[in-house]
Amino acid sequence: MRNLLLPASEKRKQFELRALGLRDSAGVAEDQALDPFALASFARLLVIDFDRIEGLSPESRTHLLGAAADEWSGGACSRPLPNGWRLVILNPAHGLKRNRATLMEEVAHVFLGHQANRLAVIGGETDASSNPATRARILARDYNQADEEAAYAVGAAALVPFGFLQRLVKRGRSSHEIARHFRISRQLVEYRIKVTHLWPEYKRASAGGR
Ligand SMILES: [Zn+2]
Repeated sequence: MRNLLLPASEKRKQFELRALGLRDSAGVAEDQALDPFALASFARLLVIDFDRIEGLSPESRTHLLGAAADEWSGGACSRPLPNGWRLVILNPAHGLKRNRATLMEEVAHVFLGHQANRLAVIGGETDASSNPATRARILARDYNQADEEAAYAVGAAALVPFGFLQRLVKRGRSSHEIARHFRISRQLVEYRIKVTHLWPEYKRASAGGR
């Protein structure tokens, strides 16, 4: 077995091992960015374009991409297709970097074997006066808190693996540069730096001047 670089805490170690397993199945090298869209088919997730959802009124569409754009990031639909695949809808207002993190979390739920415990409405007509037959609702799978935490953490670790992250931090790379390398948001990189306890080292390295 090769020598793995893992974060210090036991919980993070377990998340990291799962994430490395995901990266292995995608066949990406340690220093390469992982493309969640390429992994989605392994998880039998079919990502569909928001614009291809039928039954949404123009008002709903405008609402979901405008005023309510911050309230949903996307998710897998509750009912599988006849072939067992599930549809995943991503919020186009969030941009590709956030979409990648959202999709990665959905892939992680599947990979970790999580079972949805209830359905959550993430969008659509909620006006009770509207005709139920024309009322379009997007039902997303919902998981318990522990599963949500694990899927998010494993997904983030798959996108930003600890070993290479630590090396970049030691080289004094900024979170912005690291984010660009992995094609994700700077916020996600900083989350990873913090949960893997690399933050003091990150601050030291950046104070050292670049
Ligand atoms: Zn989730």
